[in-house]
Amino acid sequence: MPEVPMRAIRVLATGGPEVLEHADVPRPVPGPGQVLIRIEATGVNFIEVYQRTGLYPVALPATPGGEAAGTVHSVGEGVSAFRPGERVASTSMTGAYAEYGLVAADRLVRIPEGVTTRQAAAVLLQGMTAHYLVSATRPLAPGDTCLVHAAAGGTGLLICQVARKRGARVIGTASTGEKAALARAAGAHEVIIYTREDFVVRTKDLTGGAGVQVVYDSVGRTTFLSGFDCLAPRGMMVLFGQSSGPVAPVDPQLLVQKGSLFLTRPTLNAYIATPAELQARATEVLGWVASGALSVRVGAAFPLAAAAQAHRELEGRRTTGKVLLLP
Ligand code: NDP
Repeated sequence: MPEVPMRAIRVLATGGPEVLEHADVPRPVPGPGQVLIRIEATGVNFIEVYQRTGLYPVALPATPGGEAAGTVHSVGEGVSAFRPGERVASTSMTGAYAEYGLVAADRLVRIPEGVTTRQAAAVLLQGMTAHYLVSATRPLAPGDTCLVHAAAGGTGLLICQVARKRGARVIGTASTGEKAALARAAGAHEVIIYTREDFVVRTKDLTGGAGVQVVYDSVGRTTFLSGFDCLAPRGMMVLFGQSSGPVAPVDPQLLVQKGSLFLTRPTLNAYIATPAELQARATEVLGWVASGALSVRVGAAFPLAAAAQAHRELEGRRTTGKVLLLP
């Protein structure tokens, strides 16, 4: 069969945003068990920054991108669950910074009525992350207080909403007054502007000295160690990201010194490992969007060709909510 060209972002070598080149490449063909998606919107995630810089090694050349939504273009041998034209989304795509991308059929989710394709691309990865963090990593309950760092970020805005939905008190952090207002609108009871205020002192004040049951830390290097001082005895430090850089190793003795604490470093893939768990989490998150119970903020959308600019904005701390690419 003759090759059909498509537009895609190609990375030939690790480096700054400028290594994200817009190029013509052959459109992939779905193999056995695979589905080819015609992509309408691609979710930009920090993991692609780490892959681009080489912090997380990937084989090059490559087209980045794991999260996208669109319609089924064609299916490979043995795929009977999906038909061309159906609206679908996935967090497990290969090469989603492109007009078309491949995914294994058992990693694909149908988009329900009431959820736009763009909303699905914007919420699937960060929404399922917020979902597992508050319901599985440490199930939040009324009476709990949690501290959510970068509360106006893509994942942060969703954690604020779902943590509040579970009855917890939510304290957020953000770098600016504008971001703090967004976090409040998403359900944070209090927001600490951690670029101006000491978040440990403020968290202790806001909890009458008791501390919080859970810290959700996606910021890493600049917040991680201080976060232990925000926790109540037997509280849990959930380090799930590193937007300010990776953290230094910690001595387990720290956990006893700070009050019999728990430390976990979870990742979404472990919480959607089976098709059943993926479908259950995705169905609940997309159902909340359809019913209006979860609001999805797309803070910025860029044409595919401007992927480098999207990375600059995300790394430069200038985004709120989700960043999308539109092929
Ligand atoms: P965000 O939308 O939260 O963007 C990052 C935010 O981090 C910024 O807007 C900024 O908010 C804050 N930040 C603080 N310091 C810095 C810094 N030095 N440079 C850049 N940003 C900084 O991103 P995501 O929600 O997409 O991801 C956040 C982190 O969570 C990433 O590390 C990502 O890989 C991880 N993640 C992990 C998952 C998992 O399952 N483990 C799943 C999803 C994401 P402010 O200006 O308010 O400080």
